[in-house]
Amino acid sequence: MNVRERFAEVFGRPPEGVWRAPGRINLIGEHTDYNDGLVLPFALPMGVSVAAARRDDGVLEVRSLQAGGETVRVPVAGGSVSGWATYPVGMAWVLHEYGIGGASLLVDSDLPQGAGLSSSAALLCATGLALCDLYGVEVERPELARLAQRAEWDFAGVPSGLMDPSASLLATAGHALMLDCRSGLSSRVPFAPEEAGLTLLAIDTRAGHTLADGGYARRRAECERAAGLLGVAALRDVKDLAGALGSLRDPVLRRRVQHVVTENHRVEAAVGLLRAGAAAELGALLTASHLSLRDQFEVSWPQADAVVDAATRAGARGGRMTGGGFGGSVIVLTAADRAERTRAAVEEAFAARGWAAPAFLAATPSQGARRLA
Ligand code: ADP
Ligand code: MG
Repeated sequence: MNVRERFAEVFGRPPEGVWRAPGRINLIGEHTDYNDGLVLPFALPMGVSVAAARRDDGVLEVRSLQAGGETVRVPVAGGSVSGWATYPVGMAWVLHEYGIGGASLLVDSDLPQGAGLSSSAALLCATGLALCDLYGVEVERPELARLAQRAEWDFAGVPSGLMDPSASLLATAGHALMLDCRSGLSSRVPFAPEEAGLTLLAIDTRAGHTLADGGYARRRAECERAAGLLGVAALRDVKDLAGALGSLRDPVLRRRVQHVVTENHRVEAAVGLLRAGAAAELGALLTASHLSLRDQFEVSWPQADAVVDAATRAGARGGRMTGGGFGGSVIVLTAADRAERTRAAVEEAFAARGWAAPAFLAATPSQGARRLA
């Protein structure tokens, strides 16, 4: 049964429409977003769908086919919710001042949650598009991305960046999206691995990521401290890396700066390669990014290191952890005719260590959020 039929079953009337927002993978540019730097995500084929219909009593009711449990009902003007419902409810609260009213929402998804593929932003963006469309509220997509970020910060309490909702709302098929996290400006960069005889594997390592254990917040604080000591607004502004490293006494801060500054350059290099039609050459940049995240930024985890190691030994072009780290997913770029061998090598490496088998996803750069029906 599809989400439209399930909506009718749950709420006793048909939905007015179905909206869908994809998850994303960040090709390169990790932990650069909150340093005012550059990121290069693309949208996945998998995402979150929201079937929706207006209510004229100012009540928002939400239910998810993945979350189970009761339907959550709150006034769209504000109220108290907890758990997964804070995402759609938070989005509605943020949009309330733009003139949206009550609605029934049914959420369905084919995107793994907590795998670093940004199911939270997909949920926010699908909800946001649905509510805006239902009420004829016109919000430009870059603005909607900012509102989704605000909803995640203010209501879900997660200090996320602009990348996730921007990727979900602005990405297009066959492209990655270069986003400048300082200006909020973005541009499309051609990225169609299959057309270049390449396969990009996305591998959920099944090591759950959680931002709650403080590792992520600590990295942000370290970057802020380093920027303060270097007298710049953000690490984005460090122009002389050697000079900066020479002036920092704390070896931890030196490592963090080294990562952020070089990672921004890797994004620019990656964009240059893609624009030149040299996608296969990205592999070395991906692996360099991974090593920097492992050794300088110290956010990798054993399963991610094992994937990159096994894949490159099996002849893949390169690979890296993607997302905030401490668990989540890895991407591997390989010649299409080596994809099977690479996949088998990764599976063997996991089995040899007694780890749960990783999950492989199709990472085809796909279109951004849209109305389905
Ligand atoms: P990621 O965004 O990488 O998937 P997060 O921890 O940021 O990981 O977001 C996952 C959270 O988003 C879930 O714990 C849940 O609260 C919410 N979420 C995502 N998809 C759904 C869904 N289909 N139904 C209900 N909640 C969802
Ligand atoms: Mg998220």
